[in-house]
Amino acid sequence: MKKKRKPNYKLRRNIAKFILILLIFIPIIIINKTKIVNAPLYFTYREYSKVLDALFEVNYNNKEVVNIITDLKKNNKINDSTDDYILELNNKGYSHNTINFILLNLDKKDITKMLNNKYSKDFEEYIKLPLFNYNKYNRYLSYQKKNTNLSLEDVTVQIELDLDKEHYEDAVLEDNPDSITALVNKHRYLDEKYEPSDLVDMDDKYANNTYRQMRIRKEVYEEFKKMVDDAKDDGIKFYAESAYRTFSFQDNLYKEYVVSYGQAKADTFAARPGYSEHQLGTSLDIANTWTIKEDSKEYKWIDENGYKYGFIFRYKEKNENITGYKAESWHIRYVGKDAATYIHNHNITFDEYYAKFIITKNKK
Ligand SMILES: [Zn+2]
Repeated sequence: MKKKRKPNYKLRRNIAKFILILLIFIPIIIINKTKIVNAPLYFTYREYSKVLDALFEVNYNNKEVVNIITDLKKNNKINDSTDDYILELNNKGYSHNTINFILLNLDKKDITKMLNNKYSKDFEEYIKLPLFNYNKYNRYLSYQKKNTNLSLEDVTVQIELDLDKEHYEDAVLEDNPDSITALVNKHRYLDEKYEPSDLVDMDDKYANNTYRQMRIRKEVYEEFKKMVDDAKDDGIKFYAESAYRTFSFQDNLYKEYVVSYGQAKADTFAARPGYSEHQLGTSLDIANTWTIKEDSKEYKWIDENGYKYGFIFRYKEKNENITGYKAESWHIRYVGKDAATYIHNHNITFDEYYAKFIITKNKK
């Protein structure tokens, strides 16, 4: 007798299940891949995070996900293709956090561009940085290519300082010059008419007034006097040889340098009028009979103690590419104790401090 074979129902059931799954998912995949996202994504923040969470199934089950999305679409709370954007970005490999950023900050055109470009791991890192600005993203990329030693954070800081531009190119007016932390460099300048309102005359004890009366802002003077007096107790002596300079004084000085050295050379050590920190009334050139040298005990003392009074050496050799100036071992700048302490402890330039803290503060 022939033994009748018992059909393998379990296998059949599994095959049927598999085919069913394919029938459901293949069209979904094809639709998602081919649908081109054109319409803008209209939604409020609350609804948006709901849909995003739903798509990533955070705190929701599958049924709720479908219900939420259907409901939002039906009520025109989200665009028909919002979920497509999200899925495509997810397929590209972008994290939940990055997709969140992209949908909230980029417009439809930029998102489409992102979807056409290769996945970028750097992009995910860039958007976490406090200074990240999508409008400057292309500048970050080309600057990064030319400066491969920089961290991504340094790239955003240096682009914020316009260091990818030529000196004096598209320079910006410093519109808060009375601030103790105003920034003036080869990318930021002062109005020709700007003069601090609290300039005071410096005493002969603290400044060389032989050729003209030295003047400086009151707060700077108070701290400078303390610093000079305390240094004296340590056997260190110095005084101001140059302090506040008017726009026209700097103009004449610069012109003389250009006549003697030519403009290219003059630009490496002298500021153009409007671009000198001396016009802020917060900078001093110091001397002890002779201009202070880097290997002197005066330099060392100020480098180690100046920050306690709010002073820093503004132009150091290792920072020439950031400050745009050849090292000046005699030029000190008052930035206040907080900024000076941070700059001293972190061994950075005032320019970088400004980008990190002052620009960020102004943005908020
Ligand atoms: Zn100077």
